[in-house]
Amino acid sequence: MIPSVLPTYNRAPLEFVKGEGSWLIEADGRRFLDLGSGIAVNVLGHAHPELVATLTEQARNLWHVSNLYHIPQQQKLADMLVDKTFADTVFFTNSGTESCELAVKMARKYWYEKGVPERVEIIGFEGAFHGRSSAGIAAAGSEKMTTGFGPLLPGFKHLAWSDMAALKAAIDDKTAAVILEPVQGEGGIRPMADDMLREVREICDAAGVLLILDEVQCGMGRTGRLFAHEWAGIAPDIMMVAKGIGGGFPLGAVLATEAAASGMTAGTHGSTYGGNPLGCAVGGKVMEIVSEPDFLGAVNARAGALRQKLEGLVASHPEVFEEVRGTGLMLGLKCRVSNADVVKAGYDNLVITVPAADNVIRLLPPLNITEDEIAEAVERLDAAAAAIESVSSSV
Ligand SMILES: *Cc1c(COP(=O)(O)O)cnc(C)c1O
Repeated sequence: MIPSVLPTYNRAPLEFVKGEGSWLIEADGRRFLDLGSGIAVNVLGHAHPELVATLTEQARNLWHVSNLYHIPQQQKLADMLVDKTFADTVFFTNSGTESCELAVKMARKYWYEKGVPERVEIIGFEGAFHGRSSAGIAAAGSEKMTTGFGPLLPGFKHLAWSDMAALKAAIDDKTAAVILEPVQGEGGIRPMADDMLREVREICDAAGVLLILDEVQCGMGRTGRLFAHEWAGIAPDIMMVAKGIGGGFPLGAVLATEAAASGMTAGTHGSTYGGNPLGCAVGGKVMEIVSEPDFLGAVNARAGALRQKLEGLVASHPEVFEEVRGTGLMLGLKCRVSNADVVKAGYDNLVITVPAADNVIRLLPPLNITEDEIAEAVERLDAAAAAIESVSSSV
């Protein structure tokens, strides 16, 4: 009999009843160090007192009103994002995949309004993840996500990751935009090198096509800059955001330049919940905290400490781990044994990690994890690796 919850997830036998900072707690009191953050969502950890205060205060006043009216919390968050980024304008969604839908619609509408309606194609890269909606799976294109869900939304091409020659060759007079994650998350923590990201920007500029960056996972401070593309000194035309922006409240956004957004006039897009007062009040507080002068500097310091400890971990367990990859607090350990086994051994040693493609485990801790917690987490990973070694040496 089918379970009452649609069985699209293979769930681990864990059930948390409470979260505190970097910790997740089960009913029996077992405390896990959380290096997953709900997949890069809880950027300020669990139950951050200022976010709890903001959420409860807003809940007492007003949960929801329609976008038919002005929403000051939404205005405030949009103003902050415009102030801190390349963007001139922002649309709020509830998730990453909804941000993908709008990014694709916006790029196509841009060309339509320019009188070039045949420019509809979006060029993406293998290993990408852009969410589970029809546009999201078509944009990523992998068989795993698309099989059985045809006919797929047409107008997407996929190139090998970071293949600049292929990108130049693929752009033609049907191309509307290029879409990519500056650091692929689900694809196995694969950063695009800064000089290649600059080259993508140059190729797009030369051809006059739009660049859409998906910073749903790598944005909101995760790499040590507010958005990952800042490291390369470039800016997109359109950017998808979600996950960390709400700190755990379902919130997403599409940020765009005035030119890229020029087709999106009144009535062309909408959302019932997107940008509602509860979500935007919380998102505003997250932005305030992440924008504090020392916040990102501290993220970079923690990232350095974690990376160094992970390099040591890999060196002491060469049969379990192959390498550390990634940037900032978006790190991956490429495994030599099955990554699922490493994640499971982590659970047994009370540390949470997240599997990704390419046999990688992802480490995406809260951005405010302490150095003591980092040390403790790596000790637990060390114990997990030792447990795997003792099993494999006993067979
Ligand atoms: C998670 C993710 C998405 C999809 O976000 P949802 O909120 O699950 O719809 C899109 N792009 C990237 C890079 C992601 O990591």
